Amino acid sequence: MPPKYKKKSAFYYFLEYVKTAKRYKSLAYAQDEADKRWKLMTPEERLPYQEKAKRDANPNLNLENDMIRLEREEKEATLKNQNDMKHLINKLVQSNTLTSEYFHILHFNTFCYCDSNQKHYPAEVAMVRFNLNEGIEDGNMFSSIIQPGRIPIGYTLTVRQKSGETHQIPEPTIDSECNLKFIISKLYEIMAANQNSTTKEYPPIFVRDCDKTETNQILNQLCADYSIDRQAFRIYSLQYFFFVLRNAHREVWPSLSQSITEIEKDSYDCIPNLSCPYHKDTSAFIYCSECIVTRMVYIICDNCCAPWNITMKPGRHIPFNSLCVKPADVRRDEEFLERRINQLSVAAPETESSDSDDIVDLRNNLSSPRRENVTYSQMAVAGRPSTSGSFAPLRRPTTTSLSVSGMYNFLGSGRGRGIIRK
Ligand SMILES: [Zn+2]
Repeated sequence: MPPKYKKKSAFYYFLEYVKTAKRYKSLAYAQDEADKRWKLMTPEERLPYQEKAKRDANPNLNLENDMIRLEREEKEATLKNQNDMKHLINKLVQSNTLTSEYFHILHFNTFCYCDSNQKHYPAEVAMVRFNLNEGIEDGNMFSSIIQPGRIPIGYTLTVRQKSGETHQIPEPTIDSECNLKFIISKLYEIMAANQNSTTKEYPPIFVRDCDKTETNQILNQLCADYSIDRQAFRIYSLQYFFFVLRNAHREVWPSLSQSITEIEKDSYDCIPNLSCPYHKDTSAFIYCSECIVTRMVYIICDNCCAPWNITMKPGRHIPFNSLCVKPADVRRDEEFLERRINQLSVAAPETESSDSDDIVDLRNNLSSPRRENVTYSQMAVAGRPSTSGSFAPLRRPTTTSLSVSGMYNFLGSGRGRGIIRK
């Protein structure tokens, strides 16, 4: 027969407190003093002991309370992040600096998370700095393969499996030198260089929602391990930022789901030369951190430059070699027409009705000379208000990858790709 659970009273917990505080040998010795004090205590003073008794009487309540608390904290944090973002974008619109303001996007690839020491083992990092006017400029990309040091025994299989299925970065060898300190110092340097001189506030860093928890944990861990100011890394939802930015000129997206869909669609995920030198010639380029942050910038620019009459430059706002990739609004027009044709075809098969005429009209529209034989840039101009001039292909932004020393001009610049702007 299981032992009968003895319920402890609020007074019992107070008695324990008195025993510990006054260093009595046992609870019996503390009884007299506790009795006297308990009688004189106000209901507010007794409350913490009563709550503890209630929680201990129902162990599930503890778990439930923790979950409710965590949920509430998470909701509050999300709401605060969203308000911060609206406030920031509003401020930039008011001051007429939205299109020149620099934004940062961060991504980590990892080998694994070890339960035994509760540590993440990152494999690769990329941070990009961009604005709507210029897209990604030379030297504004920092990316590096990470050597996280020796991974604890027992995780080899997990590491190999994750690497094989995603980024394909080989597991660190025993003698590989850990470069985590270099990585976190470099990220801090980038943030410090962009710190607001008046408010001393660091710029927000945007991370995809699916990577947010892991990124926060990696930054917590690295900042604690190498004594770096964690306040320098203010992580925000990329999806929400994109949503607010898209609506900054005029509210066109009624809900967040539109920015989520655009990011999930990941229109440029088939373009290999957006990746770092390590991933450039591998089939895993889609998982490359540099490729991911670059794609995110291109998706944002593709959707957010037109309302501000910004001419998009291949290699900076959109992929350099993407003459076949159409701006988001043109693609949406075509998708709509395709759907409409399909609907009408189903509704009026092989009849000489006005619907058939509609189909012909729509087909003509879809394959009109306006859309045939035009380059991406021409279409971009045609579809957008008052843009002028021709598109000059630019060099792909240089990056500081692997052994290259840093980000931005003052830190040195890296390799370049593509054709030089005339
Ligand atoms: Zn890479």
